[in-house]
Amino acid sequence: MVVVSTALGSPFNKYCLTLLYTESNKYSIHSLVAAMEVSEVKIDTYLIRMWDFPKIIDFLLTNYGRIIIGISLMTTQLPEILPLLEFLKELKNSLQEKVVLVGGGPHVSGDPLGSLKQLGFDFVFIGEAEKSFTEFLSRSLEGHEVNNIKGIAYLDRGEVLTNRNDEVVNLNEYPPISLKYGLFNPIEVSRGCPYACKYCQVSYVFGRTMRHRSLDIILKYCRKLIKRGINDLRFISPNILAYGGSGTKVNFDVLAEFVDNVKKLKDLGGKLYLGSFPSEVRPDFIDSDIIKLIKNVVSNRRISIGIQSGSDEVLKNLGRGHTVEEALNAINLLRSHNFTVDSDFIIGLPNEELPDSLKTLELIQKLIDLGGVRIHLHYYIPLPGTPLAKYELKPIPEIIRRKLLKYLGRGVIFGNWLRQEVVAFKIQKLRKEGVILN
Ligand code: SF4
Repeated sequence: MVVVSTALGSPFNKYCLTLLYTESNKYSIHSLVAAMEVSEVKIDTYLIRMWDFPKIIDFLLTNYGRIIIGISLMTTQLPEILPLLEFLKELKNSLQEKVVLVGGGPHVSGDPLGSLKQLGFDFVFIGEAEKSFTEFLSRSLEGHEVNNIKGIAYLDRGEVLTNRNDEVVNLNEYPPISLKYGLFNPIEVSRGCPYACKYCQVSYVFGRTMRHRSLDIILKYCRKLIKRGINDLRFISPNILAYGGSGTKVNFDVLAEFVDNVKKLKDLGGKLYLGSFPSEVRPDFIDSDIIKLIKNVVSNRRISIGIQSGSDEVLKNLGRGHTVEEALNAINLLRSHNFTVDSDFIIGLPNEELPDSLKTLELIQKLIDLGGVRIHLHYYIPLPGTPLAKYELKPIPEIIRRKLLKYLGRGVIFGNWLRQEVVAFKIQKLRKEGVILN
C-alpha cells in the first residue's frame, strides 16, 4: 500500500480515496495523482494492490467517514477484477453512503452502461479524467453536487445519464508524472489518434484529434527524471513519429526539434529511446530522412512497428491506413540502417478468413527470413466502444495455430497471444452473459 497524500487534521479527513493499483493501470493512476497534485485536492489517498483490498477495508472504514474507491479498468483486466468488483458491490450495498465506487479507464469509457448497471459503479468517468476526476473529488470534499460534472455518467432511476464533454484535456495543464509522490513513468507526449482502427480503443476513448505536450514541458520533466536518477527517457504516444503534427503525417521540423532538444540531455546523463516500447511507430511514417534523424541519437537499436496483418484486405477493413508493402518497405529500410525490428501482428481478427491468415503467415515467414525481425504476436480482443466489439470470435484455424506454435518453439515469435486468446473468449462470454453491454 502506498499513501500518496495526507490531509489528516484537516476538515476533510472524513473522506479518503482508495485507488486500485495494478501493473496494467499504474500509468493512469500516476496521471490522476499528478492531476490531483496540481489541482491541490487534499485527500488521504491509498494506492492498493488487488489482493490487499479486503485486508485494508476494515482499517479505512474505522478511520474515515466515507471511502471513495476508484478503479481504472482495461477490458482485458475485467475477468480478473470481477471478483473484487463483486466484493465491493456487496460492501457498498451493506454500507450504503459510506462507500462510493467510481470507475474510469478504457473499459468504462467503452461500456458506461454495463459498468454502471452490472459492475456496480456509482459514477463512471468517460474518456480522459484528469479534469473531471479532480473536480469530482473537490466537489465531493466540499459537499457539493457532482452530478453535473462534464464527462461523467451515472444511473438515475435505472436510466444512464451522461454529461457529454466536448472539451479535451490540455496536456500542458497537467504533469505527466507525480514528482511529489515519486510516481514515475514514460512521459506521455501525445494523446488521441486520427486513424480509429476498428479494433483499438485509443481514438474512441481519447478522440481522433492528436494533441501534444509542449516541448518545453517535456524537457522540464525529462530533466526532473534525470535528477531523480531515471536516465532512460522513454515516451508514451500512439505514434511517436507523429509528435507535433496532425497524426496523419510527419511534421519533420517539430519532430527534429524534439529529437535535437532531448538528445542534448545526454550531457546530463539522459538516454533517448524512440520507437521502442511504449512508443511504437506506424510503418507509413518511416522513411530515410526519419531514420537519419534518429539513427545516431537514440539509445535503442530496436524499433517496434505495428503491421497487424499480412492481408491488404484485412488492413483495409480495419482502417489501418497502410498496406503490407509499405510495412515491408519500412522494415527493409530499418534493417538497412542496422535497426532490428519488433513487428506487431494480431491473429484471430473478426474480418480475417483462412486465406488472410495464410497471408499473415507468409509475411511472418518473409520477415523471419529477412533476419533481425521478431514477431510480436497478439490475439484479437473485442474491446467495448470499438466497431468490432460485437463480432463473434473465431478459433485460430488448426493449420495456422500449429505453424505459430512451431515459430514460438523456435523463439522467433513472442507475446501474450495464447493468454490473450483465453481472455478474449472470457470477454465474449461476459458480453453474452450481459455483464458487458456495449
Ligand atoms: S494507429 Fe494505432 S493508436 Fe491509432 S487507432 Fe490505429 S492501432 Fe490505435
